[in-house]
Amino acid sequence: MNHLLSDRVNNLSTSQTLAMAALARELKAQGKDIISLSLGEPDFNTPDFIKEAAKKAIDENYSTYSPVDGYVELKEAICRKFKRDNNLEYKPSQIVVSTGAKQALYNIAQVMLNDGDEVILPAPYWVSYYEIIKLSGGTPIEVPTSVETDFKMTAEQLEKAITPKTKMMWFSSPCNPSGSVYNREELTALCKVLEKHPNIYVVSDEIYEHINFSGTFCSIASIPGMLEKTITVNGVAKAFAMTGWRIGYIGAPEFIAKACTKIQGQVTSGANSIAQRATITAVDADPSVLNEMVAAFKSRRDLVVGFIQNIPGLKINIPEGAFYVFPDVSSFFGKTLKGTKIENATDLSMYLLAEANVATVTGDAFGNPNCLRISYATSETILTEALKRIKEALA
Ligand code: PMP
Ligand code: GLU
Repeated sequence: MNHLLSDRVNNLSTSQTLAMAALARELKAQGKDIISLSLGEPDFNTPDFIKEAAKKAIDENYSTYSPVDGYVELKEAICRKFKRDNNLEYKPSQIVVSTGAKQALYNIAQVMLNDGDEVILPAPYWVSYYEIIKLSGGTPIEVPTSVETDFKMTAEQLEKAITPKTKMMWFSSPCNPSGSVYNREELTALCKVLEKHPNIYVVSDEIYEHINFSGTFCSIASIPGMLEKTITVNGVAKAFAMTGWRIGYIGAPEFIAKACTKIQGQVTSGANSIAQRATITAVDADPSVLNEMVAAFKSRRDLVVGFIQNIPGLKINIPEGAFYVFPDVSSFFGKTLKGTKIENATDLSMYLLAEANVATVTGDAFGNPNCLRISYATSETILTEALKRIKEALA
């Protein structure tokens, strides 16, 4: 019946992170002992002080539509957060609160892109950027990077990728899936190139800002000249273990914020009212409340990296943030493992699911066909078991 559907949806790929998570869930329901390292979702509970704020909001009857761009108290709190953590001066009129960072990204693509506009994506990139850009008429231009260079795009690579059709560049730091964190010098080098092309806008996805072990964090908008050309995307899903609450936000030049509000007003209206009230408490909290969770992620990162470094055939960078590792598995391509021919990362991911009962996500989904993404947002006991199984299956 697909011929009855629009070309738009027929040309859209399913989110492979969500698809793998669904497949793992299905196999589990059939009784298989599956460990899912597919989805990027903290395994912690939302902190109690945020839950209390939500309960209070229910009792105070925050049950009606909020302003489309978010409650003013929340937008003011987000401005304080941008100033406190990122040294960014945004006014509430430059903030739009959305149903997750995902909707924020979709709004941006819808308001910025015309058919054929090119968007530079350093690869690997987060799975949904590519499809959101395509869905909005844009043309993603992938700039490949590799494990050898910590999966970071250089200024020279950026310069080469720019054409008269380039409208934007989208990236995440800390990066999903590679965990790479761009420091101020690296971002400054990219900005020097962008300086020569003042019409190019940047989407800086900073949703993993606080899950960062590098000791430094730099928002590209804080580099002189960039505030006017950057849309800073953030949200509470990852830092505050609030994936299901669905709150993301942007800080942007006012004309872009207004346009995002216009789109959102026709599509979803304001984000969930109770979740918005709770988010005021979350973004106003001192980031040190996250120390324990971040320390747990760092310890897991060390465990997983140490283990993978000892699996022959896997090459890995040291991820400095987020909660993923992205090993290069290309040395297995062309080999046969227990009767299964491995031609690419998707074959290897499916092999690990069948043979080791461990769900991962193929690097294809992130624009790097040599790698596999493994999420370490789960306990050390489960990670140790999963890694043992992977090692055995690859032996
Ligand atoms: N950006 C990146 C890099 C992500 O990993 C995610 C994960 N979901 C999102 C955006 C979307 O976040 P949200 O859950 O707030 O929609
Ligand atoms: N961002 C997470 C991931 O990359 C959640 C899944 C999704 O939203 O696609 O796995």
